[in-house]
Amino acid sequence: MAKNSNQKKKKKNYHEGSYTPRKVEAARDCTYTEGITVKELGEKINRTPAEIIKFLFMMDKMVTINTSLDDDTIDLIAMQYNITITKEETVDESSLEDETPDEPADLVLRAPVVTIMGHVDHGKTTLLDNIRKTNVTQSEFGGITQHIGAYQVDVKGQKVTFLDTPGHEAFTAMRARGAKMTDIVVIVVAADDGVMPQTKEAIDHARVANVPIIVAINKIDKHNANVDKVYSELADYGLMPEEWGGSTMFAKIVAKTGQGVPELLEMILLLSEVLELKANPNKIASGTVVESKLDKGRGPVATLLVQNGTLHTGDYLVAGNSYCRIRKMTDDKGREIKSALPSTPVEIIGLSDVPEAGDKFKVYSDEKSARRVADKRTQAKIESERNITSAMSLDDLAAQIKEGNVQDINIIIKADVAGSAEAVRSSMEKLSNDEVKVKVIRASAGAISESDIMLASASNALIYGFNVRPDATIKKMAAESKVEIRLHNIIYKALEELEGIMKGMLAPVYEEVVIGQATVRQTFKVSKIGTIAGCMVDDGVIRRNCGVRLIRNGVVVYTGNLGSLQRFKDQAKEVAAGYECGLTIERYNDIKEGDIIEAYESQEVKED
Ligand code: GDP
Repeated sequence: MAKNSNQKKKKKNYHEGSYTPRKVEAARDCTYTEGITVKELGEKINRTPAEIIKFLFMMDKMVTINTSLDDDTIDLIAMQYNITITKEETVDESSLEDETPDEPADLVLRAPVVTIMGHVDHGKTTLLDNIRKTNVTQSEFGGITQHIGAYQVDVKGQKVTFLDTPGHEAFTAMRARGAKMTDIVVIVVAADDGVMPQTKEAIDHARVANVPIIVAINKIDKHNANVDKVYSELADYGLMPEEWGGSTMFAKIVAKTGQGVPELLEMILLLSEVLELKANPNKIASGTVVESKLDKGRGPVATLLVQNGTLHTGDYLVAGNSYCRIRKMTDDKGREIKSALPSTPVEIIGLSDVPEAGDKFKVYSDEKSARRVADKRTQAKIESERNITSAMSLDDLAAQIKEGNVQDINIIIKADVAGSAEAVRSSMEKLSNDEVKVKVIRASAGAISESDIMLASASNALIYGFNVRPDATIKKMAAESKVEIRLHNIIYKALEELEGIMKGMLAPVYEEVVIGQATVRQTFKVSKIGTIAGCMVDDGVIRRNCGVRLIRNGVVVYTGNLGSLQRFKDQAKEVAAGYECGLTIERYNDIKEGDIIEAYESQEVKED
């Protein structure tokens, strides 16, 4: 908006138009780049952030010192302060990308990437472990100290990559992010249990993703295994075994002992041959983040799956919003390597931030390009998240309050491992009920950052941190912007706490509380008004608009509302113990001398 072609026209409007800007010092022209924050803009135009925040508040825009401003808002500020602000062009990401399609001659076969899915307890983990143990040589195996989210095994001299993330959530989450990493899905079905809901789900996921399926019927060693039944159940669900004339490969296995597993692996090789999976190793690398975490000692750690090109140490890499120069790269066996071919999983450290599983990564020619792309993406992310929260303008907020029937708790989750952030997200979202909805607006791995505080402040969100601790700057920023940070190590404790908060937020339950008592001394009948009771307040207080109970000889004879309350001739708001008053009861006139009037009010009670 505030740039280029229409800049001249606008300049004229700002300076000579009907709008009269506040008198300020001589106009200073300046430039800005995408994502400039209130603080940065303030410095450029010689205004304090508070001044800008206040001005925008008047314009119904709520920002904090670290909010990055969009072009329209910068236009407004330019008008207000009589300044011409021009936007500097930022990097065009696509100009930095090498998108030349690969020549068929450059393509060579690559290892298939396999994901194992299936119903819980059907044996996915056992199968993955078995494959890993039996297909990695002893010397290599020593290096395997922890799972990095993917591993590669050798089957008859050919490599096969397994994504070590059994579970549909990971698969779906990655697909939702547009990541296509898997070439083949192995669906594990326990022969003693048959096709279960998650089996069907897994099949559906694979189908939607257009990934070919191999079925592994597991636990055929069990006395109650019924392979034929599983065959027919799967056939009913559209997976016809080759033995029955269909086109789906079925393996019968005992994941626990490894029986039938070599045959399953051969099927994988066979299918991958048919699929002709190829990539060009002679170009710079690109691929997807498989897993990421914030390691106490090492900082952000990410497992990458190279999908095209070859990744080398020394490369400048952007993954999601973070970038780095790869100093050290290790393979799935913990060995340091210098390069990684397509379909190879590697672990890298040194990224500027923790990327998310499913984020694409790409290598750039130099550090400057990598940093610019990462910065731009960070900005785009903030922008898109700001869109979620732009619903928080004063008008919208008022409208939301008016609606009153939906109350949302916005939550930001930060955890040391992306997996736990996702786990907490789903558990927290499940706490939603008809009255209060839990909305997780961000869930990611990494320390609590400035951008988290900004987002929380703009969207009135709570921040939940798991195994992460905010540093002093972040704590201060949170306190300044009145953002609540809750730190936990145990998920269920956090869930308990949130449940409590939700109860506090539920539509309040009211309880009657007696506030005072008076005795009727005499009564007057006044036409048009009815019976006026002259009373003495014995205890507490009687308030206008309170509820009343009329008690005669210890029995409540009427319950209703106070009509009017007077001290001498004047209306009174309240009359305290020891004073006389005149009162009427709404729509009730049978008041007698000696009656007791008990006054009560409704007060909110907290559920426990
Ligand atoms: P997942 O939830 O799909 O990962 O299932 P697991 O791999 O954790 O296996 C669930 C249970 O089934 C474990 O107790 C395994 O020991 C057992 N199991 C796995 N494979 C076999 C098998 O081939 N035969 C028998 N009898 N038990 C198995």
